Amino acid sequence: MNKWLNYAVSNNSDDSIEPDEFVSGRAETPSESIICVDCGGNAHLLTHPPEDGVWQIGEVVAYRCSECRDRWDIVLAPDEQ
Ligand SMILES: [Zn+2]
Repeated sequence: MNKWLNYAVSNNSDDSIEPDEFVSGRAETPSESIICVDCGGNAHLLTHPPEDGVWQIGEVVAYRCSECRDRWDIVLAPDEQ
């Protein structure tokens, strides 16, 4: 019964999320910087870490390249460890 209620809430908040594909929980910690795909420069993490230090799967973090000023949005993947 609880499971059914959770699905109903998810569907109401976002119709695009299929219940079978919906995942939640701890994500991998994003690195402080990544390599810019466009110019090979350093792109630094713009998004501040959550207060509890726990990143959530599906959370979007933004990077800004210090060379070309491009912005990169990365969706966090599940923590493999
Ligand atoms: Zn760049």
